[in-house]
Amino acid sequence: SEAIQMIANPVNREHRVVGAVILLMNETEKVEREQLRREFSANVSHELKTPLTSISGFAEIIQDGLVKEEDIKKFAGRIYNEAQRLITLVEDTIKVSQLDEGENPYEWEKLDAYTIVKDVCGRLREVAEKKNVHLYIDGGKTMLTTVHPILDEVIYNLCDNGIKYNKEDGTVSIHLRDLGENVEIRVKDNGIGIPGEDQSRVFERFYRVDKSHSKAIGGTGLGLSIVKHGVTFLGGTLKMVSEIGKGTEITMTFPKERKAV
Ligand code: ADP
Repeated sequence: SEAIQMIANPVNREHRVVGAVILLMNETEKVEREQLRREFSANVSHELKTPLTSISGFAEIIQDGLVKEEDIKKFAGRIYNEAQRLITLVEDTIKVSQLDEGENPYEWEKLDAYTIVKDVCGRLREVAEKKNVHLYIDGGKTMLTTVHPILDEVIYNLCDNGIKYNKEDGTVSIHLRDLGENVEIRVKDNGIGIPGEDQSRVFERFYRVDKSHSKAIGGTGLGLSIVKHGVTFLGGTLKMVSEIGKGTEITMTFPKERKAV
């Protein structure tokens, strides 16, 4: 309201310069946000276009009778996979922007992190078994005040990556530790690792290391962006250590009690 007053009547104000600085900062922030929003829309459009082009192309050649009877099932499978990719992309995009806007339709509750980790592992068991990756939980009951769907999503994305970017017979372990005021959750894998120059960038929206390799694995490049936003939302911290060929370790700490905002 002070800023608005400044615009309305700048000359009569004694601390006009101070007012102008506040206005400038608001303007810069607005411009930056606008720029991010534009970049994000451009990225989303590009990411949506690729699977849509495939779906449309496959459907067209089937319609034109260019696919042999015995191959139709295979093509339907490809259309299905591309459509699933689109669904995930749209869902992820909604999640990122909700967190970005500070929207939170969920409740803060006192919960046991171990229960959430166990549940996530249960949901990922089948994917892990398919790749022959072993999941371990280290630690026990660890209570904290948190938002269930957000913490769940963060842990899920990290474990999912740990499995996806792993090798045959690899492991993903989740460690829970009570640090007194904080709770530490660490997700460690002995998979392919992330090159040094990419480590800070993987948290950006749509950023994927080695596009061709990542493409074969599948994903939207939004998983770690959701993790970063989620951890920030929950008032936590995040640290990544990774080495090519050795694996990746992501350590998060969350305050046990919700800090007053
Ligand atoms: P997605 O998995 O959908 O591509 P993410 O945002 O989760 O998107 O990850 C971004 C990129 O970071 C991935 O494409 C992958 O190249 C790399 N990455 C993420 N987690 C790991 C991991 N645990 N090990 C190796 N590489 C990883």
